[in-house]
Amino acid sequence: MTTNSELFERSSRHIPGGVNSPVRAYGSVGGAPRFIESATGPYVSDAEGTEYVDLVASWGPALLGHAHPEVVAAVQRAAARGLSFGAPTAAEAELAEVISERVTAGGVSPVERVRLVSTGTEATMTAIRLARGVTGRDLLVKFAGHYHGHSDGLLAAAGSGLATLALPGSAGVTAATAAQTIVLPYNDRAAVESVFAEFGGQIAAVITEASAANMGVLPPEPGFNAFLAGTAHTHGALLILDEVLTGFRVGPAGWWGLENAAHPEHAYVPDIITFGKVVGGGMPLAALGGSARVMEHLAPLGPVYQAGTLSGNPLAVAAGLATLRLADASVYAAVDAAANTISTATSAALTEAGVAHRVQRAGSLFSFVFGERFVADAPRGYDEVQGQEAWRYPPFFHSLLADGVALPPSVFEAWFLTAAHDSTAIERVLAALPAAARAAAT
Ligand code: PLP
Repeated sequence: MTTNSELFERSSRHIPGGVNSPVRAYGSVGGAPRFIESATGPYVSDAEGTEYVDLVASWGPALLGHAHPEVVAAVQRAAARGLSFGAPTAAEAELAEVISERVTAGGVSPVERVRLVSTGTEATMTAIRLARGVTGRDLLVKFAGHYHGHSDGLLAAAGSGLATLALPGSAGVTAATAAQTIVLPYNDRAAVESVFAEFGGQIAAVITEASAANMGVLPPEPGFNAFLAGTAHTHGALLILDEVLTGFRVGPAGWWGLENAAHPEHAYVPDIITFGKVVGGGMPLAALGGSARVMEHLAPLGPVYQAGTLSGNPLAVAAGLATLRLADASVYAAVDAAANTISTATSAALTEAGVAHRVQRAGSLFSFVFGERFVADAPRGYDEVQGQEAWRYPPFFHSLLADGVALPPSVFEAWFLTAAHDSTAIERVLAALPAAARAAAT
């Protein structure tokens, strides 16, 4: 048997840091990452043959659990017909229809047209180019701690892997590109108003995570997204709602749908919505959607160029379609129930061990922020969550890992549940919590 440590050493010889996406390297928790051999339902198994209850779910896509038989069968059927055509398929039209139908509130969808791409990064990158093409303006507003993928202009104060590595941004981004992104504190209306008062005529778009979940989970204050839409529109700018992580995960219509239902008084219509993760069912597929007026600026109809050899790949489309078709109300109810049980039990175990913390929730997504100051007051933005007792997380993480539970290897990531987390898997997590909470206390 080859151990995880041996595999890490081997892969580090030819792959920078041994991984193909930085947070996988366990940098902030220490130790060798688990090299996964297979995954099924709520479990992943590593190269040493150890099985873990998985609370990462491939960072979101596995809403139904890993290797759902119907999704795998759909991909196999598609594979047998050919891996890639570089030509349109009927299934792409069907997926676009399903996305538009799902992302609807009060019979109206902000997604009249859809463009399929391969990654969330491409979706947000294209959304920004589109917003610039539509408005003829250059500047972009984003929020500190929000992650929108790794395209140049979006890597300032970008949460997620950068937060985990404690980097302010990325080397290799030109000063000219960085200067076109204005980074504001999240949930700070005055900051948004003042930047629009000064630069309103030059701002193409505001991009925001529908609910922030890449600096840990940190939902927008009620009405904040509607305020962004209103302010952007008053100044002729667009609102890009990034639902790559939340879309089809927190509910059939994403965070936008949840917000509309919970706060109809704060209803709003984003101009472009980006999707990823669940929409591809575990395959490389993402999308952006919006009104026909905006989306028809994309080539071949309009002057904003965007393309992809593998865009709308038939295997990825098959996985996405099968996943969305299976994601009915009972799936969301199961994911919500599993999230409730695990977040409540984790909080109780931490309290019992005397670890001051706060549970951060956005629908079925949750994470924990550590420190006495958060018990009374929820954090509103990136500065505050960065000031938490992050050192409590590695011992907590490793205690759970040793007991067969795999958490995201960073305090700045959400925990992901799936509809496959049944009572057996949940019980295994609950049994491991008291020791982990005690480890976090020391
Ligand atoms: N936007 C958000 C909100 C994300 O969480 C992510 C990835 O985690 C992305 C964009 C980038 O997606 P991808 O990793 O598929 O490029």
